[in-house]
Formats: sequence, structure tokens, C-alpha cells
Amino acid sequence: MSHPIVRWERVGEVAVVTVANPPVNTITAAVRVGMFDAVAAIRSDAAVRAVLVLCEGSTFFSGADIGEFSGPPKEAEYRDLFRQYEQLPVPVVFAMHGTVLGGGLEFSLAGHYRIASPGTRFALPEVTLGIFPGAGGTQRLPRLIGADKALEFILSARPVDVAGALAMGILDAEIPGELRAGALAYISSLLQSGKGPRRTCDRSIDPASATPEIFERLRASARKQYPNRNAALHAIEVVEHSLPMSFEDGLLYETEQANVAKVTDEARALIHVFFAERETRKVPDLPRDVAGRKVASAGVVGAGTMGGGIAICFANAGIPVTVLDTTREALERGLSVMGKTYDSMVKRGRITEADKATRMALITGSLAYEDLGQADVIIEAVFESLDLKQQIFRKLDVIAKPGAVLATNTSTLDIAEIAKVTQRPQDVIGMHFFSPANVMPLLEVIRTDHTSAEAVRTTLDLAKPLRKTPVLARVCYGFIGNRMMEGYAREAQRIVLEGATPRQVDTALETWGMAMGILAVFDMAGVDVGVNVHRANADRYPPDPTYYQADVALYEAGRLGQKTGKGYYRYLPGDRTRHDDPEALALLKAAATRLGITPIEHTDEEIVERCVYALINEGFRILEEGIAIRASDIDVVWAAGYGFPRYRGGPMFCAELIGLKTLHDGILKYRDRFGPMHWEPAPLLVQLVREGRSIAQWEQTRS
Ligand code: NAD
Repeated sequence: MSHPIVRWERVGEVAVVTVANPPVNTITAAVRVGMFDAVAAIRSDAAVRAVLVLCEGSTFFSGADIGEFSGPPKEAEYRDLFRQYEQLPVPVVFAMHGTVLGGGLEFSLAGHYRIASPGTRFALPEVTLGIFPGAGGTQRLPRLIGADKALEFILSARPVDVAGALAMGILDAEIPGELRAGALAYISSLLQSGKGPRRTCDRSIDPASATPEIFERLRASARKQYPNRNAALHAIEVVEHSLPMSFEDGLLYETEQANVAKVTDEARALIHVFFAERETRKVPDLPRDVAGRKVASAGVVGAGTMGGGIAICFANAGIPVTVLDTTREALERGLSVMGKTYDSMVKRGRITEADKATRMALITGSLAYEDLGQADVIIEAVFESLDLKQQIFRKLDVIAKPGAVLATNTSTLDIAEIAKVTQRPQDVIGMHFFSPANVMPLLEVIRTDHTSAEAVRTTLDLAKPLRKTPVLARVCYGFIGNRMMEGYAREAQRIVLEGATPRQVDTALETWGMAMGILAVFDMAGVDVGVNVHRANADRYPPDPTYYQADVALYEAGRLGQKTGKGYYRYLPGDRTRHDDPEALALLKAAATRLGITPIEHTDEEIVERCVYALINEGFRILEEGIAIRASDIDVVWAAGYGFPRYRGGPMFCAELIGLKTLHDGILKYRDRFGPMHWEPAPLLVQLVREGRSIAQWEQTRS
């Protein structure tokens, strides 16, 4: 008997249900139809003495179809489907492999026995999407392993391996070798030993695992792990509230609450970012038939901070990479830093010594440009100087093979100016990695007006093996991320000159949800970095004598941040803990007096508003100018590269949560206080407020 996605057949007395819904066996509507048909057929076959459910391909069910979340609720259908399998009168065995996630794991809990191949991983990641397991997870898991363990697993949202799953009690056995054959053997031994159905729903929750103290402890840890968020607390509430209920009533309560969770701002924002990250590789104006070129080898010019990190990304992807620098010392220093980076990965158990050796063997140092002649992509990461970069691109133009992508990691220079010194501007592109390049997931890809579709496609495709989230931008000063950072950090610096302490500013931003306060970020990156960029590009900034002057005050006193032990904060050697430093406050105060800035009191709300409104306002300009393809790409840049809280959806999604009118009026409020130089609402924001339209509506009608 067959169905396009779900097949079932009888093997002796065992009904075998096999699902094949590539690529990752998501439980789509079609899968559910097939699973309903299969269970109906099994029920009407009196010869069936056991049921085996398994999936083909790379993994067992990887979870529910998140694309359905925005449509009508499906929980009732899931509930019914899982119940039908659970209620079968014969043993039902789920045999799993790959990555068993969310709804996939919940489905298995409705089975009577669970077995898995070695290497299988299990997780309930729902709270990271602002929801909680709503397909029976809050009812079956506590019955199976206790309310405390169930909620700890739900709150952690992290995967466990087979050993962890066995220890936790969500798995009965590991099945080495071919899974289907091993599962049939397992079933035959079950039947021989007279084992029957064993339904999770018939168990009761161990009262010792569900005391008020336990729930209170879990709530405290949920508040700590997920500040400003409710999904984890909601999961605890559902388990606790449904304790006195029957299993059926508990399921109904779970469904009701799951439908509440799905439409919260938190869930909408997190699901938005989840999809936004999958959307960035789509470029509407690239011809559909353009294929990326194969990248089998790479070159990196400059073995410094960024060049070294970029080389590691290639080696981690298994792509051989040649790294070039000017002197043997510079090269050796670079290679030794790369080796140390790998050493620390070995030390933290992330990779083995053997992995390190394999990866280091893929990195070759060189002092000769000719050695880059066979590379499919060459990334330049030397000092930030247009002259120097142009010199290098002239050389690359001579030695690079035809069709090689020539990329620059510049943060501030005009890539078109770099491209124009070559005979092949169509192959020149920006690849803006973030520091540390081997860790940060964001990759801004910048095309000039001359970059070819093929070069764009090749670079976006290359992001995948490099494990980066690429976002395509057009050339402008600062691209997407740093351009938006300008106004955000400008306000933070201005606020400390107005008398707020660095700690007050950073704490306000962190409490709101930024991963790290911006002043602490400057201390980490080096206060000199910002000062040098602003000095080198002075003509690009507004004629405001107070502009970024907090940085300058510290810089001139030699306070360059963590590397000098002093910046906005004070640091003890080898320790990144921030200590308040009266000396920094005095320097900032003196600078403010010199600049004629009157001290004012700031509420945390004002700090957040001024920084975040300035940030979002620039996002509207970037969107309207077509620097970013879509608003959600801007959201990805800030969520993946700048620590913007994902649960606020990124700056543009957050603009809608704040309300465009509120945002617009807030900007006008600051224009009244501080003047129009920095506080003119972006034209697109003004237009949308006037027309009463959302960003999404504007994007739909934009030609
Ligand atoms: P760095 O000073 O750490 O490294 C630069 C390296 O380039 C040095 O090893 C130097 O010897 C080498 N070099 C100089 N001239 C060379 C030449 N002619 N040929 C070959 N090698 C040469 O600098 P970095 O921080 O790695 O920055 C490199 C680039 O990346 C800059 O354009 C910078 O703007 C950009 N960038 C830096 C960061 C960051 O946070 N550091 C982030 C994004 C982008």
C-alpha cells in the first residue's frame, strides 16, 4: 500500500510505516494525511501484532512545519493523529535517526517504545522560537520522565545525544547497524517476551517531580535564562496548571495555550528571524539560471586578525587556503595565531587534535602572489587603506585565474574604487566578515554596480560551507551594519557626555536585550579603532563638535579599552569584568565641560529610545535607498552580527512592534530637544506613517 510520502506494508506480523519527505522529514500537512491513512489501514488489519514507524533520508521527523504557524491552528490535528497511534492495541515502536526535533520528538512520545541509531540527537527547541512544545509534549514528557526533568529539557532547548536520551528515559534502546532490520529484530524480541502496548498517557506524573518548590526553581531559572521573554515561563505554567487534569483535558489546555503563545510578539519576532535567515540568499534581480562557480581552493591576502580568522573558516570547511603576507615574520605570527585558535578549540573539546592537524594542513603560508594563481576565490584583508588595497588588486588582476572571485574585507572603503583598478570589475565583490571571523556568523556581501550575477551567486553560495549567514548589500559608507551603528553609538557617546555613566548606558541597553552594551563593545574592539575611522573619514560625518567625542576623550588619555586595561571601564589583567572607573568619569566630564554640554538626568527608557530610534531610523534610509534588498535582511544583519535581541525581531521588525507612528513621533520629540542635525525622521518612515502602511505593505507594492 502506498502514499506519495508515507508508505506502509506488512512485514510478517509487523506493520511498517515509512516516511520519506525530504529534505528533513518535516511533519507537513501531506505527512499528516499519510500518517492518518496509515493508522486507519493498520487498525483494520487484524493480523498486525506490532507497528514500526521510521523515516528515510537524513533524519527522523525534524519537527512541525513552521511555515504553517501563521495559518490556522493545527494543534488539534496533531493531537488527534498522535492519539490514534498511541491508542493502537498493539505495541507501537518509533525508530529514530538524525536530528529528532520538536513535534518529531513529541510524536515519538506517543509511541510505546522508542529506539534510535547511534549518533541520533534529540531536542525540544520550541522556546527559542517563542513557543513551547504544543503537540502533547507538556503532557506526555512529564508522565514519562517527571515534570522537573521534562521542564529542564524544554527550558534548555539544547540537544541530547543517545546516551543522554537513554539516561533521561526518553529512549529505550540504541540500535547499531541498519535501523530497519535492527528495529524489526527489536520488535520480534518484544513480541516473544510478551510485551504489549505501553502508553505514556496511562502513566501519572511523579508527584515528587512536581512540587511548588520545583516549579518556583524552574521559574527563577527561566527568568534568568530568558529575560524579557515568556515562552519558557508559559511552558512551566502549562505543566503546573494541568497537573490536576486528566490527560485529555491536559492536552486540550496545552492546545489552548499553544495557540496563545504562537501569536505573542516574542514568537512572531523569533519566527520572523528564523525565516529571515533562510531568505537572505534569495536575490530577486539575479537571473534564475545563474549558477555559482565551484570554490575548491581559496587565497587570503593579509595574515592579520581578519585574514587569520577567514583562513580558519575555509580550513574548517575543508577548502584548502593559501594565506599571503608581506614578511616572513608577519606570516609566521599569523599562522601561529591560527594554531593557537585551534588549540583553544581542542582545549574546549570542540575539535580533536587530529581535526586540528587536518585543518592546519589545509592552510599554507606564502610570500608570493603567484601562489594564489589557482585560487577560485581570493579575499584581501590587509590594512584599511585605499592605496594599498588598489595596489593589491592590481597584482591580483595579473595573477588570479580567469573567473576567480576577488573579494575585499574592507569596512569603510568604496569597493567600486577598488574594483576599477582591475580589468575585471565584474569579479570584484565585498566580503565583510566580523571579528572574530571564525566565530561571528554574519557575512555582509557587497556588490558594486559592476559585480556580475555569477560572482554574487558564487559568494552567497560560498557562505554555506563557511557556515556564515550572508546578507547582500550595495555599496555605501558602512554598508548595512556599521552604517546603522553610527547613530546608535553616537547617542550612547553623547549620553555619557551628558552625564550618564557608561554602566548606566550599557545596563539600560543590555536590560532591553542587546547582547552587550555598546560602550563595553568599544572597550572590547579598541577605542582607537573608532577614533581612527572617524578621523580618516572626517568629511563624511555631520559638523557636530560633540560627535563621538567620548571616544576621543578616552583615546587621548591612552584608554584604548581592554587591551590597555582601561577604556570606558577599568579591567584587571586577564579579566574582562568591567569595573567602574572614576578616572574615566572625570575625563568624560571634563570633555563635556569643554564642549559646552549641559548635564542632564537620563531614564533608562530615554537611553534605549535614543540609541534604538537612531538605529532604526537609519534602517529606513538603507531600505529606501535599496542598499538592503529587504527589511528582513537588515534584521538579520543586526540579529546575527550585532547582538540585537532576536526576540525583538531585528530593528525593522522591532519598528513595527514599537509602532511606526510612535517611532516617528519619538524621533520628532528628540528633534525638538536636540535639533534636526541627527533627528530628522527618514523619508520612508514619514511616508509610511502618513499613508498608514506597514513596511511589509510598502515592500509588496514597491516596483
Ligand atoms: P591587521 O592589522 O590585524 O592585519 C593586516 C595584515 O595585513 C597584517 O598581517 C599585515 O602584515 C598584512 N599586510 C599589510 N600589507 C600587506 C600587503 N601589501 N600584502 C599582504 N599583506 C599585507 O588588520 P585586520 O584587523 O585584520 O583588518 C584587515 C581588514 O579587515 C581591514 O580592511 C579592516 O578594515 C577589515 N575589517 C576589520 C575588522 C576588525 O574587527 N578587525 C572587522 C571587519 C573588517
